[in-house]
Amino acid sequence: MVNSVHLKVSNLMMRYGSHEVLTNINFDVIKGDYIGIVGPNGSGKTTLMKGLLGLLPLAEGQINYVDKRKDVQKFGYLPQNIIVSDRLFPAKVREIVGIGLIGTKGFPKIINRQDKMRIDTILNRLSILHLRDKRLGDLSGGQQQRVLLARAMVNEPQLLILDEPTSALDPIVREDFYQLIGELNQQEGMTILLVSHDVSSIGKYTKKMMYLDRELVFYGDYKAFCESSDMTAYFGQSAQHQFCWRHTDESNCK
Ligand code: ADP
Repeated sequence: MVNSVHLKVSNLMMRYGSHEVLTNINFDVIKGDYIGIVGPNGSGKTTLMKGLLGLLPLAEGQINYVDKRKDVQKFGYLPQNIIVSDRLFPAKVREIVGIGLIGTKGFPKIINRQDKMRIDTILNRLSILHLRDKRLGDLSGGQQQRVLLARAMVNEPQLLILDEPTSALDPIVREDFYQLIGELNQQEGMTILLVSHDVSSIGKYTKKMMYLDRELVFYGDYKAFCESSDMTAYFGQSAQHQFCWRHTDESNCK
């Protein structure tokens, strides 16, 4: 279904003890969205992701998933910077991707033949099937990142959350990774939330921007951001148009 809402966040407030971190957050995530979540350090990006993943309680407000079926995996999560450089790290690719299936299995938690087929399907989709019997520590950073992406996706989640996914990768591998993520979004309609510190380049990859600074400063597409006089007032014209990667001519905001 085009334009169907996956997720609705209403009047959300989150805090640690008495320290209020996020206030009055309201937004919808639509199927097929690719949202770049940016903001300064300490602006609440990670806290929001933890709220979405159910890892932290909400102080106020609601997060509603439109699809309430219990058997539907809501999120796949790719954490930041878990690159293994120990070549003796014993886990093999298939086993690591299999961990993504364990959480939703009943008892016994055993990877069966059908699961192995699901694992191989996702490895194939991410072009790493040939690595399935390798040890994680024997793989390059970019290959490891794909394995972790496969683990996040093996349960066919409705939304994929990527938390600074490329900070440990070199620029060419990073570009390659973003290309893959872009294909998953454009060709397969995967809905993606990408947390990044790199506000000046996420516009190249994502369709919408969410700028957080303990409240929702902006949420929308880049054209709206670029044309917003509120955002000019907030960031100043120069920074506003740096974030908006679409043109270099500041006077031509199209
Ligand atoms: P970001 O991901 O944008 O850098 P965070 O969500 O990590 O921001 O942090 C937002 C605020 O919450 C910061 O002021 C941070 O110090 C505080 N904070 C984060 N985690 C905790 C925690 N476990 N306990 C107390 N305060 C925290």
